[in-house]
Amino acid sequence: MKTAIISGASRGIGRAIAISLAKEGYAVIVGYCHNKDKSKEVCDLIIKEGGIAEAYKCDVSIADDVKAMVEYVKAKYSTIDAVIANAGIGAYGMLIDHSDETIMKVVNTNLVGCITLCREAGRVMLSQKNGSIVTLSSMWGQVGGSCESVYSATKGGIIAFSKALAKEFAPNGVRVNCVAPGFIDTDINSNLTKDNIDSIIADVPLGRAGTPQDVANAVAWLVSEKASYVTGQVLSVNGGLII
Ligand code: NAD
Repeated sequence: MKTAIISGASRGIGRAIAISLAKEGYAVIVGYCHNKDKSKEVCDLIIKEGGIAEAYKCDVSIADDVKAMVEYVKAKYSTIDAVIANAGIGAYGMLIDHSDETIMKVVNTNLVGCITLCREAGRVMLSQKNGSIVTLSSMWGQVGGSCESVYSATKGGIIAFSKALAKEFAPNGVRVNCVAPGFIDTDINSNLTKDNIDSIIADVPLGRAGTPQDVANAVAWLVSEKASYVTGQVLSVNGGLII
C-alpha cells in the first residue's frame, strides 16, 4: 500500500489533496495543527468512500512534532511514498508593522516547517530509493506580493529549496516538485474584502478564482507515475495570472 503525508490537511487545499490522493489509492495521513475535529471529518469522508486515512497532530513549526509524525508513519505503514508540504499561514500588512513574533511565526511555519518535513521524510525516502515530494509555494513566491513580503520570502525560499533538493535527492530516485498556486478560494484569504477578491479575479485570464481541487489535481499528477520524469519543477496553478 502507498502512503502519503499531507501537512495542514484539515481544510482548504490540503483537504482536497488528501481526498484526491486517497482516491488514487494512497493511505493518507491528514496532518493537522489545531483542528482535530475537522481533520477527523476529512478522514471519515475518505473512509466512507472506501479509502484509508488517519488524522495526526503535527505542528510543522515544531521539529519534534514532524519527527514523531514521520516515525509513526514509517513504523505503521513501512514506506512513505508521497509527502505534501502544504501547511502555511499568511501575514498581510506593511513590513514595517510586522512584529518579530509575526515574522518568526511565518518563517518557521512556511519555510522551516517545509524544510523539516522534507528532511525527516527524505531520510526514509532515500533509504527506500523511492518517493515523491510536493511543496506548496505561491505566485507571490515567484513575483513578490506587496504587503505580503515575509510570506513572499518564505514562498520564494520554498522554490529555491525544492529545486536544490530535487537535484540532491534525484540520484536516489526521489522526486521533488513545487506547486505555485495563484488566487485559490480558501480561508487563508479570509482577510480580503469582496472588492479585493473581485479585482484579483478581474486580472485572472481564465476569469475565476482557483479551487482547492484545481491545486489537488496538479499535486496528484506530480506525485503519480505519469510524472516519473519530472523533478525540480515549479507548476503554476494560477489561471494564467502569472506565467
Ligand atoms: P488554509 O488556511 O485553508 O490552510 C492552511 C492549513 O495549514 C490549515 O489547515 C492550517 O491549520 C494549517 N497550518 C497552519 N499552521 C500550521 C502549522 N504550524 N502546522 C501544521 N499545520 C498548520 O489555506 P490554503 O489556501 O489551503 O493553504 C494551503 C497552502 O497553499 C499554504 O501553504 C498556502 O500558503 C498555499 N497557497 C494558498 C493560496 C491561496 O490563494 N489559497 C495561494 C498560494 C499558495
